[in-house]
Amino acid sequence: MNKKIEVPMSRIKELISLIEKWNYEYYILNQPSVEDAVYDKHWQELRELEAKYNYILPNSPTQKAGQTASPKFRPVARQNPMLSLDSVDDYENLLKFDERVKKILKTDQEIEYICEWKIDGLSVSLVYRNHHLSQISTRGDGVIGEDITFNKELLKNVPFFLKEVANCEVRGEVYMKKEEFLRLNEELKKSGHKLLANPRNAAAGSLRTLIPLQNRNLHFFAYQLFTSNFPTQLSCLQELEKLGFVVSPDYSLFRNIEEVEKFIQQQEKKRESLDFESDGVVVKVNDYKHYEKLGQTSRFPRWAIAYKFPASLAVSKVQNIYVEVSRNGRITYVAEITPVILQGSKISKVTLHNYAFIANLGLNIGDEIVIKKAGDVIPQITKVIKLNGSASWQPPTNCPSCNSNLKWNSTNIYQLCKNKKCPQKVVNYLVHFASKRGLDIKGISTKNIQKLYENNLLNQPADFYHLYQKERQLLKLEGFRKKSVGNMLHSIENSKKRPLANLLTALGIPLLSSVKTQKLTKFYPDLSSLLTAVKNEEWEKFREILGEETQKELKKYLSEPKNLSLLEEMKLIRELPST
Ligand code: NAD
Repeated sequence: MNKKIEVPMSRIKELISLIEKWNYEYYILNQPSVEDAVYDKHWQELRELEAKYNYILPNSPTQKAGQTASPKFRPVARQNPMLSLDSVDDYENLLKFDERVKKILKTDQEIEYICEWKIDGLSVSLVYRNHHLSQISTRGDGVIGEDITFNKELLKNVPFFLKEVANCEVRGEVYMKKEEFLRLNEELKKSGHKLLANPRNAAAGSLRTLIPLQNRNLHFFAYQLFTSNFPTQLSCLQELEKLGFVVSPDYSLFRNIEEVEKFIQQQEKKRESLDFESDGVVVKVNDYKHYEKLGQTSRFPRWAIAYKFPASLAVSKVQNIYVEVSRNGRITYVAEITPVILQGSKISKVTLHNYAFIANLGLNIGDEIVIKKAGDVIPQITKVIKLNGSASWQPPTNCPSCNSNLKWNSTNIYQLCKNKKCPQKVVNYLVHFASKRGLDIKGISTKNIQKLYENNLLNQPADFYHLYQKERQLLKLEGFRKKSVGNMLHSIENSKKRPLANLLTALGIPLLSSVKTQKLTKFYPDLSSLLTAVKNEEWEKFREILGEETQKELKKYLSEPKNLSLLEEMKLIRELPST
């Protein structure tokens, strides 16, 4: 009897929705919330499930390269799709790639390969018309890209005029040099702005902005040229160089995959000394006559593979462990370490997640640690080398901000400050309220919010909207000048117009993520309708929209009179005409 195979639909759908969310954060917002390794693991699981059950949903992210272009930019349709690359992370799979190539080409002859650095940036297409650089676009979903021509001045090594060729398309990778990235972050730190996570996000963020940023310098490595036919990738790179483009340094040609393997081992050692981020080596079949036969999937060509380097590691020493209190009272634990450079960024702090993490590692001040960063955002401690006996660091008993007694959460994993008036909690809450994800009040740094709180000018969110009546007091504060105060008040005024979803995110209601606030505000587009629904106790409807757990949290939040009156006040503030 035939046993019916059950496709694990719910897991497939869950993976698709997670990957879509991470793609959006990474490609559109340039703000990844998970490490690349986490993303890659989920991606791999989805691909394996799709292959095992031979079941691919039409919206599966495995079927497209990148992410749908943002509507912020003019769309650019292209005939030759810009694809991603399939990747391997060990030699066994590199050999399998070579076997696959030979199988498709029906040959047992050696294949000639060319290797280039895999540059960690974003792929762009440059179109030249009548010798002039006339259009620059990002990859988007491969077929529809985003027009970013207006940012061409940011590209410091791209020729704007080609003497020898009138019409062509050049593709390559835009990246930010490591030293430029460090310089930029220094500058952002001085001006109290949020630091950029890594050079890849810095490059993508700089290029995909509608208002050109003057102080950013980006560079370009070219790797593909569409004009008259070249016989090989080698001749294509040579032609690109002749035209004045910079191509991947030390690109090399090899007679077979064994030579490629040796070269990759060599390159891996050089990686840290490069002035740009590279996360591997791209191995391409050199002879273009094989390309048509090898073909491509909807995501990647079969004539190339990216060999991704393993996560890079660094050793450092714990100088200090300190705790901070977040806006919801949760204590976070941070290790200050002897600064090390890891994949181009200087690391001097490492998050320790929670107390259980510290206890499991047996970590203490003075220990040596191994930290890892897998082309990702947050450096992680992967190993502890004990130098100071076996004692583990002991957590404090009192809050570092208000000195009240700390409580343990129900699973004894982290501590909590329960004092509602704890200064650091209040300040962090106000910072979150004004942040980009919240009401996006520009021109007000964490330091300024702290100062306004200390001077009793800011205690709760609605106070932002009364600051315009206190301009004289503001101007007496150190660092508050007429122009910056004017800009800040202007931005506060503008924040009244931010969508309700942002206001709800700004309030930091537990479990009410920005995705959920969007869902909620589809049904209740303004505060009046939301407050009426609360008055009419439409909890069942809230549950349908948000799910049980979030509905419970929202109900709890809205049942506190203090919170309801804040919403009432925000309603009035948002309805008031401009000041
Ligand atoms: P990719 O970065 O792994 O590789 C493909 C790209 O490499 C190409 O599109 C091309 O632009 C580039 N490239 C660099 N040097 C090249 C060269 N010399 N020749 C040819 N191409 C070259 O693939 P992707 O599709 O751009 O991104 C997928 C990866 O991005 C994932 O594996 C993951 O690590 C990361 N990602 C992370 C998140 C997250 O939330 N952390 C989300 C989405 C994607």
